[in-house]
Amino acid sequence: MNLSSPLPLQATDAAPDWARVRVDFPLLMREVHGKPLVYFDNANTAQKPLPVIEATSAFYRRHNANVSRAVHALGTEATDAYEGARGKLARFLGVRADELVLCSGTTFAINLVAYSWALPRLKAGDVILVSRMEHHANIVPWQLVAQRTGATIRVAEIAPDGTLDLDALHAAMTPEVKLLAVAHVSNVLGTINPVREICREARRRGIVTVVDGSQAAPHLPLDVAAIGCDFYAVTGHKMCGPTGTGALWARREHLQAMPPFLGGGEMIKEVSFDGTVFNDPPHKFEAGTPNIAGFVGLGVAVDYLDALGREHIAAREQELLAHFTEELRRVDGVRIFGTAAHKAAVVSFQVEGAHSHDMATLLDLQGVAVRSGQHCAHPLLQYFGVAATCRASLAFYNTHEEIEAFMAALKKVRALLG
Ligand code: PMP
Repeated sequence: MNLSSPLPLQATDAAPDWARVRVDFPLLMREVHGKPLVYFDNANTAQKPLPVIEATSAFYRRHNANVSRAVHALGTEATDAYEGARGKLARFLGVRADELVLCSGTTFAINLVAYSWALPRLKAGDVILVSRMEHHANIVPWQLVAQRTGATIRVAEIAPDGTLDLDALHAAMTPEVKLLAVAHVSNVLGTINPVREICREARRRGIVTVVDGSQAAPHLPLDVAAIGCDFYAVTGHKMCGPTGTGALWARREHLQAMPPFLGGGEMIKEVSFDGTVFNDPPHKFEAGTPNIAGFVGLGVAVDYLDALGREHIAAREQELLAHFTEELRRVDGVRIFGTAAHKAAVVSFQVEGAHSHDMATLLDLQGVAVRSGQHCAHPLLQYFGVAATCRASLAFYNTHEEIEAFMAALKKVRALLG
């Protein structure tokens, strides 16, 4: 069975030929409204390279069967492919495969922590500390837990440049705080939070940490074990993998102590009407048929990112970010949200006198895809006192020419709206 990439991908010390890499992404070749597509919505979801598309399709064409439920050849192939993907993702994250729960994405991963770890443990008087810059997926599950346990939510504030106020954060880690939820990289501001330092301070005080790695895993060299957190969540569709794939890494002692979240097939060893013996982690948390083809694709996606080299990806995106930011600053009436020294290639902005939705709609007519709105981060936009922003988020396969095309489109749209 060959579910690996059909293209030769070798990790190399030299930076990849980015023009050659771009050709791997068929969707980037299409037009929108008769204009060449400029896809700057990568923080929302990333495009998929051919090896990922091919591997997903090859699974359905040649190997499709359910996992762990059949002894026939296809069943074994499907199980091997699924478990192989777990191994690849574990290596990519720098963790043990038996500590990695595969699930549909970050939203599921954080809810798993909320329902299996937090709900049975927290009580009135306890505090859940969350940062101001969290995505709703790292706020709402904690609110649901707080409602049911009597715990309260405390907010760690940010500074106007979009960095976390670390002194305030550490001061907020009082004895009542049982759990801290923080993004590794903000999906709105691009800020890269010093999660290692934050988790060290939390651990010293006995606070359990949940790091939302959705926007970090696709863009930064990553060693999750070295961060020192308790839980780390990732989502496959932002990592050039299929939608409906993701994972939760957790320390072994947590996985062993946590009750299952969902019950059903796969997560059991033995069932009778007198009771059930659950499977070992991570299978204990994987009830039902998973997105097998999706995980096969995700395994190939992480191999693809590794073959490009994550240092190279980060350097390429920093170069694109610097170019984009410099050009955008030159446009009259632009306000940028998030100017941290350490940030990923995510730029939220507003143009004076233009509503963000109008901007995004008119940019779309020029072939440019950006997101507009609140980016699933209402409390963050409330801090800045705005109802919506436009967000351009770049990936390694974007080009300097696309940045020029974006700026030309922006100036045109601005003139139309002005
Ligand atoms: N957290 C962050 C920081 C995100 O950017 C996103 C996706 N927009 C999520 C969580 C939600 O992840 P998923 O798409 O896997 O539900």
